[in-house]
Amino acid sequence: MRLVLVGPPGAGKGTQAQYIASNLSIPKISTGDIFRANVSGGTELGKLAKTYMDRGDLVPDEVTIAMVRDRLSEDDAQDGFLLDGFPRNVPQAEILRDMLKDWGQALDLVLELVVDDDEVVRRLAGRRTCSQCGRIWHVEFDDKKDDRCDVCGGALFQRDDDKEETIRHRLEVYQVQTAPLVAYYADEGILVGVDATGPVEEVTERAMEAIRPFTG
Ligand SMILES: [Zn+2]
Repeated sequence: MRLVLVGPPGAGKGTQAQYIASNLSIPKISTGDIFRANVSGGTELGKLAKTYMDRGDLVPDEVTIAMVRDRLSEDDAQDGFLLDGFPRNVPQAEILRDMLKDWGQALDLVLELVVDDDEVVRRLAGRRTCSQCGRIWHVEFDDKKDDRCDVCGGALFQRDDDKEETIRHRLEVYQVQTAPLVAYYADEGILVGVDATGPVEEVTERAMEAIRPFTG
């Protein structure tokens, strides 16, 4: 099974990627992991990527694509994989399609985690970080009544990333970037949406249910 997982920030994509890949016994391949592996392994691509990151610049598409190609060529990815964080746009999706075609492969499925914006805001804007130990609490899910850490007593604060305005902006950026990608895969007939609200285990179950018809 070769699949791509897409979803907005706050949809629990990283966690679901882990569970789904492990349920399907395929490697979870995320661009974050690939970057870290190349940089810490000191590969040529890693060194090149690092020159951009050190300057605070975005790593160019060609470098990302070359890293993805290397990773997908590895033995453990020959019978399937779950891609997380790639492709990000239609040109990358076309490159991926051609890459797989060269190897006699094709994507089976693109799973889209669907969460409504207000739900994402509710999840993320409720987060409070402990200024002393860094632990994260949730005003609603942890039933936090005070602004002190239960573990160390440190003062809790809301990170800028967790402010509603920032979250809504990230959601807008995501929509603009991802809508064409989702439409592209819908056209290809391999897009399936999964409701990503509710407990983690339930979302995984729904995702596995959605994947079942596509497993040979
Ligand atoms: Zn603390």
